[in-house]
Amino acid sequence: MAALKRTKNIKLLPVLAPRYCPQYATRRHLNLQEFHSKDLLKKYQVTVQDFRILDSKLDTKPLADFKADEYVVKAQILAGGRGKGHFDNGFKGGVHLTKNKDEILNLAKNMIGNKLITKQTPKEGITVNKVMVAESVNIVRETYFSIVMERSCNGAAIVASPAGGMDIEAVAEKTPHLLKTVPIDIYEGVTDKTANEIAEFLEFKGPLKQKCAEEIKKLWNLFLKVDATQLEINPLVETDDGRVVSVDAKINFDDGAKFRQEEIFALDDVSETDPREREAAAQNLVYIDLDGSIGCMVNGAGLAMATLDIINLNGGKPANFLDLGGGVGQKGVSAAMKILESDPKVKAVFVNVFAGIINCVTIANGIIEALKKSPPRFPVVIRLEGTNSEAALKLLKESKLPLQIINDIDRAAKTAVELAK
Ligand code: GDP
Ligand code: MG
Repeated sequence: MAALKRTKNIKLLPVLAPRYCPQYATRRHLNLQEFHSKDLLKKYQVTVQDFRILDSKLDTKPLADFKADEYVVKAQILAGGRGKGHFDNGFKGGVHLTKNKDEILNLAKNMIGNKLITKQTPKEGITVNKVMVAESVNIVRETYFSIVMERSCNGAAIVASPAGGMDIEAVAEKTPHLLKTVPIDIYEGVTDKTANEIAEFLEFKGPLKQKCAEEIKKLWNLFLKVDATQLEINPLVETDDGRVVSVDAKINFDDGAKFRQEEIFALDDVSETDPREREAAAQNLVYIDLDGSIGCMVNGAGLAMATLDIINLNGGKPANFLDLGGGVGQKGVSAAMKILESDPKVKAVFVNVFAGIINCVTIANGIIEALKKSPPRFPVVIRLEGTNSEAALKLLKESKLPLQIINDIDRAAKTAVELAK
């Protein structure tokens, strides 16, 4: 998902799920900048352009020994659609071509430190801290190639289209016959036959077909070796000098494989992540920022979704999705409450816990720990059921904190909605 994480058409494939859709974003996934992804591609012998990186120091030393007929200067942000994007300073386009080496610095100056707004960024954009300067390739044709873990295939699938470039979502919507999904057997891998068929579908002809098939097998090898869940090359291009080049790359990784991909996970760039999401991730909480006014603290993804629903049904809007999870301790609960406190949108909090694995006393102690120093700036409605709930409710009552304890879920939700008004 360069276009991956970021499209609107969620029915299509998880690969086309929008970045900010909580259904898909229930956990913060590792996201690499394009230049880190390209380093990985290079390591696995995939054909990519040579490049250098400029950062906010705007020191051009990295360019000293870099020479090309034409250069492409690309803003590095964790979102796609850069080519068609614009900056908050009015500068147009996050991808620029120039034949003049002296022009590179000017282009970089227009990008670095400014916010790039694209179809896939939040509306205020994302600040650019680095730009990639690559040798430009002369593009004859742009195609689309991706590998995803696809639920409906019970495994990996290749999604390809000869109509690549910037708007694969539109291809999916308007000309679906130009998009091909090929399930891949994870044990068998991408065979020569499959690679050739896809190269042909991508309309690579003559010797280029073989070259494309080789690139596809290398990309598959990379996908497997780095424990990727999604790998998107958009565009995979044909150049005028007869090469098949991965011009843009976006890779998502399986968080469960972190233990054996330490080098890759160390590249995680959290500078673009919402600070509350970062804090939640550090506490092992699943937290997604939403735009309503009711802060939710819930255990279990199912109950959390039901909580969002019941708030909506009662005419309210949740400010977040927060799943404490089954292994949460007092410290995690307290941190969760502080995350909600730090969110200016939150006008009331709804704690909705059904304790099976966890202990209600842990929840109560966490809430008390978070709120005892200074009383909450918002009303807190608590519905607490399950293991040790009586002892927990007693603790909460004795804390003398201004809490509304309501054990009927519907009434509790209604009250939270009323109080948030
Ligand atoms: P995105 O807009 O964020 O998806 O960024 P891409 O890296 O995909 O670049 C956007 C578009 O810029 C591509 O689809 C190409 O049309 C163009 N582009 C990118 N790199 C080059 C290059 O080296 N040479 C040429 N001629 N065009 C490029
Ligand atoms: Mg692209």
